[in-house]
Amino acid sequence: MAKPHIVVLGSNFAGLGAAQKIREYGKDAVDITVIDRKPYLLFVPNIGIEVLENRDPLYSMHMPLEPAMKEDDLHFIQGDVQSIDVESRTIEFLPTERLGSATAKLQYDYVVIAVGARLAYDQIEGFAEFGHTVSDTYYGNQLRRYLYSEYQGGPVAVGSARFHQGSRSHQYVPQAEAACEGPPVEVTLSIGRWLQTHNFGGPSNVTVFTPAEWIAEDAGMGIVKTLLGLAGKMGYHYVNKTYDIRRITQDGIEFVEGPSIEAELKIIFPDWVPHEFLQNLPISDDVGFVETDMTMRNPRYANVFACGDAAAVTVPKLGILAHMGAEVAARQICQDLGLMHIAPGEERMNPIVDCIGDMGHNEAFYISSNTWYGGDREIFRMGHIPFLLKLQYKDMFFRTKGKVPPWGLPAADFFAEMLGKEVGV
Ligand SMILES: Cc1cc2nc3c(=O)[nH]c(=O)nc-3n(C[C@H](O)[C@H](O)[C@H](O)COP(=O)(O)OP(=O)(O)OC[C@H]3O[C@@H](n4cnc5c(N)ncnc54)[C@H](O)[C@@H]3O)c2cc1C
Repeated sequence: MAKPHIVVLGSNFAGLGAAQKIREYGKDAVDITVIDRKPYLLFVPNIGIEVLENRDPLYSMHMPLEPAMKEDDLHFIQGDVQSIDVESRTIEFLPTERLGSATAKLQYDYVVIAVGARLAYDQIEGFAEFGHTVSDTYYGNQLRRYLYSEYQGGPVAVGSARFHQGSRSHQYVPQAEAACEGPPVEVTLSIGRWLQTHNFGGPSNVTVFTPAEWIAEDAGMGIVKTLLGLAGKMGYHYVNKTYDIRRITQDGIEFVEGPSIEAELKIIFPDWVPHEFLQNLPISDDVGFVETDMTMRNPRYANVFACGDAAAVTVPKLGILAHMGAEVAARQICQDLGLMHIAPGEERMNPIVDCIGDMGHNEAFYISSNTWYGGDREIFRMGHIPFLLKLQYKDMFFRTKGKVPPWGLPAADFFAEMLGKEVGV
């Protein structure tokens, strides 16, 4: 008899994690196909560190997928997913290794949608000419070249465009006005110190802005207020309630609400937009993120799962939530197939905002908080240990081909909490 066929769309943090966990729980009782348009995992969170250290992220932030696929007998297709028909359980994709391929089809018994989101720089007027960012190799290298050969020492502005979250997941997560504000906070702090080191002034040259009332409010209000107090003392400027970016010009950033910010260097994080092929599907919410409950299962199609940035309940859009959602989806599928029994308490995602952000000078901040989801945990630390853990986590991830041992994250949390410098919240 044919084995159940599980198709995983996307192979970055959420997709690769889901495929590996399904193999771990389902052993050889399932066939697993993974489709991604590129044959490597892009380790997004550490690109900024490479850029500021003048290292090309191409050499350090790409993890080839073939060894991971081989190790777990995952059938990998390098292809661009074009559509999903949830009635006929069919994926349509375009093989992308060479141009000119014909569209192909694939049948599934279960599908895990882990294709992330479009980072919509193309929706920001003036970004192509005047904007910079650190979310991929290309833009990271553009910024690296600018900093190391063109930057004149003028003001720097860092912040986010408005996020358009769907309206059908409010029983699980609150409404966010920015998709992911750990990165702008991290870049603000680290570039301020980069300016100092390179004799271009320091934090007082940097303004951080947010469309919301509070930047990174998902980290917990105690942490945010402490962080803003510290950043203010260091000299950083803070502008809130910008609502959205209207346009970027040579001279700065214009907003939908409030005065413009003058800046030579504009480092931007855009709206996280669902992929077009997910919009207007019976599995998607009103903007196009895939609807699930906290078991990562679609409420209308029981064989459709989503995790990571593509899932509507993943707010903020964060790597730790991609990791957690992948594991939960894998357990659910393998329990459905009678291949495992889920332990009590492990049926659903218990989300937490866990984040280690570079602050320059070999220091980082560590945040661990679940107040955004109604909990009472708010841990905030700073220092060299969190920075070391940020580097170590990436190394361990690559060394284990994405299979960080179960003690990896708790150990990072423990060491950051015990050995990081306590910051009063
Ligand atoms: C600058 C920056 C810094 C960040 N720092 C942190 C941090 O410090 N900590 C943290 O927890 N999070 C951080 N994040 C967020 C984190 O990177 C994301 O939450 C995480 O990458 C989500 O993983 P994912 O697998 O769901 O999506 P992605 O990482 O976006 O991966 C999606 C995958 O799907 C593939 N794909 C997309 N569309 C298709 C298609 N149509 N066909 C085939 N394949 C497709 C892509 O090629 C990609 O491999 C940061 C984000 C940014 C932008």
